[in-house]
Amino acid sequence: MNILTRITRPPNASYISTRNKASFDSPGSNEEDVDRLEKDLAMKQSQYGPCGLYCGACGAPDCDGCGSNRTDDYVKGCRFRKCAREKQVVFCCFCSDYPCPPLYEFMTDRWPHHWTMKPNLEFIKQNGLEKWLEAQKEEWTCRNCGAEIKWYQKVCACGRDLGGWDLPPDFRPE
Ligand code: SF4
Ligand code: SF4
Ligand SMILES: [Zn+2]
Repeated sequence: MNILTRITRPPNASYISTRNKASFDSPGSNEEDVDRLEKDLAMKQSQYGPCGLYCGACGAPDCDGCGSNRTDDYVKGCRFRKCAREKQVVFCCFCSDYPCPPLYEFMTDRWPHHWTMKPNLEFIKQNGLEKWLEAQKEEWTCRNCGAEIKWYQKVCACGRDLGGWDLPPDFRPE
Protein backbone atom coordinates (compact mmCIF):
# COMPACT_ATOMS: atom_id res chain seq x y z
CA MET A 1 0.00 0.00 0.00
CA ASN A 2 1.11 3.48 -0.68
CA ILE A 3 2.05 5.04 2.64
CA LEU A 4 1.06 8.42 1.29
CA THR A 5 -2.49 7.25 1.39
CA ARG A 6 -2.09 5.18 4.56
CA ILE A 7 -0.95 8.14 6.58
CA THR A 8 -3.81 10.18 5.44
CA ARG A 9 -6.45 8.45 8.13
CA PRO A 10 -6.70 6.34 11.45
CA PRO A 11 -10.00 5.88 14.68
CA ASN A 12 -14.73 5.18 15.88
CA ALA A 13 -15.55 5.12 19.38
CA SER A 14 -17.72 2.03 19.51
CA TYR A 15 -15.40 0.36 21.99
CA ILE A 16 -15.71 3.22 24.41
CA SER A 17 -18.10 2.12 27.07
CA THR A 18 -19.10 3.32 30.47
CA ARG A 19 -16.22 1.24 31.79
CA ASN A 20 -13.97 3.93 30.42
CA LYS A 21 -15.61 6.78 32.24
CA ALA A 22 -12.75 7.17 34.65
CA SER A 23 -10.47 7.75 31.70
CA PHE A 24 -12.10 11.05 30.84
CA ASP A 25 -10.15 12.70 33.55
CA SER A 26 -10.23 16.21 32.22
CA PRO A 27 -10.20 19.17 34.61
CA GLY A 28 -13.50 19.47 36.40
CA SER A 29 -14.51 16.10 35.08
CA ASN A 30 -17.67 14.81 36.70
CA GLU A 31 -20.50 12.54 35.74
CA GLU A 32 -22.20 15.29 33.76
CA ASP A 33 -19.05 16.13 31.82
CA VAL A 34 -18.44 12.49 31.11
CA ASP A 35 -21.97 11.97 29.82
CA ARG A 36 -21.60 15.01 27.61
CA LEU A 37 -18.26 13.79 26.32
CA GLU A 38 -19.65 10.38 25.57
CA LYS A 39 -22.54 11.84 23.62
CA ASP A 40 -20.17 14.06 21.75
CA LEU A 41 -17.96 11.12 21.10
CA ALA A 42 -20.79 9.05 19.71
CA MET A 43 -21.38 11.79 17.16
CA LYS A 44 -17.75 12.03 16.26
CA GLN A 45 -16.82 8.45 15.68
CA SER A 46 -13.47 7.77 14.18
CA GLN A 47 -11.90 11.10 14.91
CA TYR A 48 -8.89 9.92 16.87
CA GLY A 49 -6.71 7.08 18.04
CA PRO A 50 -5.93 6.33 21.71
CA CYS A 51 -2.35 7.23 20.84
CA GLY A 52 -3.39 10.87 20.34
CA LEU A 53 -3.38 10.99 16.55
CA TYR A 54 -6.16 12.98 14.93
CA CYS A 55 -7.84 10.84 12.27
CA GLY A 56 -9.34 13.80 10.50
CA ALA A 57 -5.93 14.66 9.09
CA CYS A 58 -4.99 11.12 8.12
CA GLY A 59 -6.80 10.20 4.93
CA ALA A 60 -6.15 6.47 4.50
CA PRO A 61 -8.76 5.50 1.92
CA ASP A 62 -9.79 2.13 3.36
CA CYS A 63 -10.32 3.25 6.92
CA ASP A 64 -13.03 5.25 8.66
CA GLY A 65 -10.84 5.81 11.67
CA CYS A 66 -8.97 3.94 14.41
CA GLY A 67 -12.13 3.22 16.41
CA SER A 68 -14.43 2.53 13.49
CA ASN A 69 -15.69 -0.76 12.14
CA ARG A 70 -14.03 -0.12 8.80
CA THR A 71 -10.30 -0.06 9.33
CA ASP A 72 -7.36 -1.13 7.25
CA ASP A 73 -4.79 -3.78 8.13
CA TYR A 74 -2.39 -1.31 9.67
CA VAL A 75 -5.01 -0.16 12.15
CA LYS A 76 -6.26 -3.70 12.83
CA GLY A 77 -2.76 -4.78 13.75
CA CYS A 78 -1.79 -1.71 15.76
CA ARG A 79 -0.33 -2.65 19.12
CA PHE A 80 -1.27 0.67 20.73
CA ARG A 81 -4.90 0.40 19.68
CA LYS A 82 -5.04 -3.15 21.02
CA CYS A 83 -3.25 -2.27 24.23
CA ALA A 84 -5.43 0.75 25.01
CA ARG A 85 -8.53 -1.38 24.50
CA GLU A 86 -7.21 -4.07 26.78
CA LYS A 87 -6.32 -1.51 29.42
CA GLN A 88 -9.67 0.23 28.87
CA VAL A 89 -8.22 3.66 28.46
CA VAL A 90 -9.63 6.00 25.86
CA PHE A 91 -6.26 7.73 25.50
CA CYS A 92 -2.82 6.50 26.35
CA CYS A 93 -2.20 9.55 28.54
CA PHE A 94 -4.67 8.05 31.03
CA CYS A 95 -2.68 4.85 31.28
CA SER A 96 -0.50 4.36 34.36
CA ASP A 97 2.34 3.23 32.11
CA TYR A 98 2.23 6.29 29.85
CA PRO A 99 4.39 6.75 27.96
CA CYS A 100 5.37 3.11 27.64
CA PRO A 101 8.68 2.60 25.76
CA PRO A 102 7.15 1.43 22.42
CA LEU A 103 4.75 4.35 22.38
CA TYR A 104 7.51 6.77 23.23
CA GLU A 105 9.61 5.39 20.42
CA PHE A 106 6.70 5.74 17.99
CA MET A 107 6.03 9.32 19.11
CA THR A 108 9.58 10.34 18.50
CA ASP A 109 10.37 8.42 15.31
CA ARG A 110 11.03 9.94 11.88
CA TRP A 111 7.39 10.69 11.00
CA PRO A 112 6.39 14.30 11.66
CA HIS A 113 2.73 13.43 12.21
CA HIS A 114 3.79 11.22 15.13
CA TRP A 115 5.28 14.29 16.81
CA THR A 116 1.75 15.61 17.28
CA MET A 117 0.86 12.80 19.67
CA LYS A 118 2.57 14.09 22.80
CA PRO A 119 1.21 17.66 22.55
CA ASN A 120 -2.19 16.27 21.59
CA LEU A 121 -2.34 14.02 24.64
CA GLU A 122 -1.15 16.86 26.86
CA PHE A 123 -3.84 19.12 25.46
CA ILE A 124 -6.49 16.44 26.03
CA LYS A 125 -5.39 16.03 29.64
CA GLN A 126 -5.54 19.76 30.22
CA ASN A 127 -8.63 20.68 28.26
CA GLY A 128 -10.61 17.54 27.57
CA LEU A 129 -11.60 15.75 24.42
CA GLU A 130 -14.21 18.13 23.12
CA LYS A 131 -11.95 21.18 23.05
CA TRP A 132 -9.19 19.16 21.46
CA LEU A 133 -11.43 17.93 18.66
CA GLU A 134 -12.58 21.49 18.03
CA ALA A 135 -9.01 22.73 17.91
CA GLN A 136 -7.92 19.90 15.63
CA LYS A 137 -10.78 20.45 13.26
CA GLU A 138 -9.82 24.08 13.00
CA GLU A 139 -6.15 23.29 12.54
CA TRP A 140 -6.82 20.78 9.78
CA THR A 141 -9.30 22.84 7.82
CA CYS A 142 -8.26 25.23 5.08
CA ARG A 143 -8.85 28.81 6.22
CA ASN A 144 -9.43 29.81 2.66
CA CYS A 145 -11.99 27.30 1.39
CA GLY A 146 -12.98 25.13 4.37
CA ALA A 147 -11.66 21.89 2.88
CA GLU A 148 -10.11 19.19 5.07
CA ILE A 149 -6.31 19.26 5.16
CA LYS A 150 -4.18 16.14 5.48
CA TRP A 151 -0.88 15.76 7.30
CA TYR A 152 1.49 15.90 4.35
CA GLN A 153 -0.60 17.97 2.00
CA LYS A 154 1.40 20.84 0.57
CA VAL A 155 -1.26 22.72 -1.34
CA CYS A 156 -5.02 22.89 -0.85
CA ALA A 157 -7.38 22.21 -3.75
CA CYS A 158 -8.16 25.94 -3.65
CA GLY A 159 -4.49 26.67 -4.35
CA ARG A 160 -3.50 27.86 -0.89
CA ASP A 161 0.03 26.95 0.18
CA LEU A 162 -0.35 24.85 3.32
CA GLY A 163 3.33 24.77 4.26
CA GLY A 164 2.93 21.03 4.85
CA TRP A 165 5.49 18.79 6.49
CA ASP A 166 8.07 16.90 4.48
CA LEU A 167 7.98 13.13 4.42
CA PRO A 168 11.01 11.45 6.03
CA PRO A 169 13.99 11.77 3.68
CA ASP A 170 14.45 8.01 3.34
CA PHE A 171 10.78 7.40 2.60
CA ARG A 172 10.05 5.57 -0.67
CA PRO A 173 6.46 5.04 -1.80
CA GLU A 174 5.64 1.38 -2.38
S1 SF4 B 1 -3.73 3.71 17.86
FE1 SF4 B 1 -2.53 2.85 16.17
S2 SF4 B 1 -3.98 2.63 14.47
FE2 SF4 B 1 -4.93 3.99 15.99
S3 SF4 B 1 -4.37 6.08 15.33
FE3 SF4 B 1 -2.81 5.42 16.78
S4 SF4 B 1 -1.18 4.50 15.53
FE4 SF4 B 1 -3.01 4.64 14.25
S1 SF4 C 1 0.86 0.63 27.79
FE1 SF4 C 1 1.44 2.15 26.25
S2 SF4 C 1 0.22 1.68 24.45
FE2 SF4 C 1 -0.71 0.61 26.15
S3 SF4 C 1 -2.33 2.02 26.88
FE3 SF4 C 1 -0.47 2.39 28.12
S4 SF4 C 1 0.62 4.06 27.09
FE4 SF4 C 1 -0.91 3.21 25.62
ZN1 LIG D 1 -8.44 25.57 0.51
